[in-house]
Amino acid sequence: MYRSDPFVILTHDGAAKIANSEMRGGRVAMRHTPSEDAYIVDVVETAKDVRVQVAIPPEYTALKWGDALHAAQWMRQPVEGLNLHHLAMIRRPGISLAFHDFRSLVAGVNDPGNQLGLLITYDPDLSQEAIEVGVSTFAGWLVQRSGVRPIHIEVEPETVGLAQLTGAWPIEQLARHAVLVVGCGSIGGVAAEALAGYGVGTVELVDPDRFLWHNIIRHTLGPESVGRYKVDALKTHLDKRWPDQDFVAHRLDAVSDAHFLRSLIPKVDLVLCAADGIAPRRVVSHLSRRAGKPAVLACVLDHGSVGEIIRLRPTPRFGCLLCLRENLQDEGAMDAEADQELDYGIGRVHQPMTAVSPDLQYVGTLAAKTAVATLLESLHGDHTQRLPGEHAILGLRPTGDLASPFDVREAGDIRWRTVPSPRPDCPTCSAA
Ligand SMILES: [Zn+2]
Repeated sequence: MYRSDPFVILTHDGAAKIANSEMRGGRVAMRHTPSEDAYIVDVVETAKDVRVQVAIPPEYTALKWGDALHAAQWMRQPVEGLNLHHLAMIRRPGISLAFHDFRSLVAGVNDPGNQLGLLITYDPDLSQEAIEVGVSTFAGWLVQRSGVRPIHIEVEPETVGLAQLTGAWPIEQLARHAVLVVGCGSIGGVAAEALAGYGVGTVELVDPDRFLWHNIIRHTLGPESVGRYKVDALKTHLDKRWPDQDFVAHRLDAVSDAHFLRSLIPKVDLVLCAADGIAPRRVVSHLSRRAGKPAVLACVLDHGSVGEIIRLRPTPRFGCLLCLRENLQDEGAMDAEADQELDYGIGRVHQPMTAVSPDLQYVGTLAAKTAVATLLESLHGDHTQRLPGEHAILGLRPTGDLASPFDVREAGDIRWRTVPSPRPDCPTCSAA
């Protein structure tokens, strides 16, 4: 196929209308979008002089462009093995048949005159062998007086969406899991989208805030969402993008509504916290530990110079957020929790943060990866999903002058460490 050849699209419904017709062939009307040089099968003649409108699912907006109708033709297996010839020809770029030769081979093909003729040949009786070598059930022909060339017909497949990954990625297992995302800002929004992309069946969203203009630059959401609650706007966005999964919006503040949050955590398999500030992270660390659920905490520190992911697992081996921070303090590291508050919680939330959107997306995606890997390894024994540690520090714009372990020196570097075991007197860990 030449790059300049027209592109013909046949939806599932259009293909079914041709396949189910009892005729040997009929007329087709295609809508043409000149800007894309794409033809979309719009009307099919299914019985003599009965022309039926083809359904195009509304989400395929681009397939609804273009008003110019173009007359074309379909035929059911006009010659034995024609679609096999189609394959042989399409693999030899530049080849074409003289119109008169094609017409003597394929009786009934319309004379295009000075126009561009398009023909779809349908062969329902292909052998398994033919299908395996790449012969198409629906083959296309560009019919011109100057010559006839094979073209590709793009048929809407039976399966689109996550189900395409069946057998290649454990989507069936992940479809049964639920993750609670606390904080739906830049990192949380990206994490929620990535969890959906990995196939997590239910993503519950927690955030008390509205989406405003200054959020647009760093968020998954855009201008269409300004003024809405972040959780509701994000749910709208995710429902549209991932129609087979469930998204639940909770307009809750992790701290002031902690008692509601407490009731949500037992129903999920993991909590991913991307909320800003000390308090919500402490609440998530405490409540998830008490509920016996793993938690993943994600943030950026030092004005976006480093990213941090912490995995908290409710086992005797690993302590909670406070156990980790106290341990770091003993080592002389910076107070990462207090660092979180510099831009927030003091009425200066509009102070521009230096972290740029893709850096936050990088942290959000790694947080989702950490969450999904934890589910797959711990609940399904998938050792390909074992992580190098519990605590990751990512270089985004590292200055290298932070105290260990935040002293990554290169952008893109990821340093993995473990988290210490619980302190004997820890109020969060000791009750677990
Ligand atoms: Zn602890």
